[in-house]
Amino acid sequence: MDKQQEFVLRTLEERDIRFVRLWFTDVLGFLKSVAVAPAELEQAFDEGIGFDGSAIEGFARVYESDMIAKPDPSTFQILPWRAEAPGTARMFCDILMPDGSPSFADPRFVLKRALAKTSDLGFTFYTHPEIEFFLLKDKPVDGSRPTPADSSGYFDHTPQNVGMDFRRQAITMLESMGISVEFSHHEGAPGQQEIDLRYADALSTADNIMTFRLVMKQVALEQGVQATFMPKPFSEYPGSGMHTHLSLFEGDRNAFYESGAEYQLSKVGRSFIAGLLKHAAEISAVTNQWVNSYKRIWGGSERTAGAGGEAPSYICWGHNNRSALIRVPMYKPGKTGSARVEVRSIDSGANPYLTYALLLAAGLKGIEESYELPPGADDDVWALSDAERRAMGIEPLPQNLGEAIALMERSELVAETLGEHVYDFFLRNKKQEWEEYRSEVTAFELRKNLPVL
Ligand code: GLU
Ligand code: MG
Ligand code: MG
Repeated sequence: MDKQQEFVLRTLEERDIRFVRLWFTDVLGFLKSVAVAPAELEQAFDEGIGFDGSAIEGFARVYESDMIAKPDPSTFQILPWRAEAPGTARMFCDILMPDGSPSFADPRFVLKRALAKTSDLGFTFYTHPEIEFFLLKDKPVDGSRPTPADSSGYFDHTPQNVGMDFRRQAITMLESMGISVEFSHHEGAPGQQEIDLRYADALSTADNIMTFRLVMKQVALEQGVQATFMPKPFSEYPGSGMHTHLSLFEGDRNAFYESGAEYQLSKVGRSFIAGLLKHAAEISAVTNQWVNSYKRIWGGSERTAGAGGEAPSYICWGHNNRSALIRVPMYKPGKTGSARVEVRSIDSGANPYLTYALLLAAGLKGIEESYELPPGADDDVWALSDAERRAMGIEPLPQNLGEAIALMERSELVAETLGEHVYDFFLRNKKQEWEEYRSEVTAFELRKNLPVL
């Protein structure tokens, strides 16, 4: 037994923990949990806990359904909303096959495999997500419109604002679980919040995002409201993005930074961005995986006055241009040696493991094949005409899930990075969602057609 495992077993005793939840994530990004008694844990560390993989979205076919969840002791945390004795703790798990080999269906393994390739190239990958979500008074399931929990706007600070109490309690809870928060504020739409996590290695960030979503839902319930990470719950308000800042380090040197270069961006940084741009469309079905995701990125500002809320619709990069898919934030004098890129397409309904694996693969491809970075876009790309955009070589992101699926189906990069199992399952699942959506007669059609036709 290693030191971390011993620490976990000792803490269980000292803190009178009666339940240990073993967490993992399915292919669509939903958290799964199985509770074990502390007495079982020693064995769980040795051999893992068996479960029926065919019952988990995207894991296994029925004839090969035995799977094993093996807890990662470095992720041990006590759940703060179950902290009084007898308490509850959690650990993230790696999913294994009965012979002990990693399961190709485990999104955490997909990211680990991409990270192993990164370290073979001598890099460490850091990420820093800005997570937006809504607080709602209710979550109707019959398709009717939800009600935002407050009526504040961007950066508003008003007394008796649900959001403020909410954010204080939520952040305290995150920090007590070892998740550091950098910024938080009310976002542009009524009920919309943003909380930004401090940068960490990509695997910790992905684990932290899974924890974050649960903690937000938990705190919301305690305050009599509901939290949702749905990309675009309201037609007339901005949606919820999960912009993520990325950087590569070589040892403790930021590999994107070069003093005196244009935008202080090194060749590695420039090729990484070129890779993100070149592969942006084919990875969309994962960074924006729901039918609803495309209502966010196609709600752009010029179309419905502000409802797009600065979500990107076109594939370009800019220095300080919030309409661009990729933004290189202003260089801060005094912060020598720091450079990062912000990817703005990702939404809050994405599977963070698969998303980060693909962003990384796209960027690394750019480095390996020395892609040239096209010129940046300094204009508001929404305000340009289609012809102007075409002349500048700026292509649109996929306009709906159907287009995104078609591009993913032709993508070698996505097939390679996700591995055959996840790739096939994901495509099958998303095609089904798209078919269901296409066959549904919507409120829009009834409103538009029924009165006049
Ligand atoms: N809510 C916007 C989005 O969907 C982002 C607003 C911002 O720039 O933070 O991406
Ligand atoms: Mg924001
Ligand atoms: Mg941002």
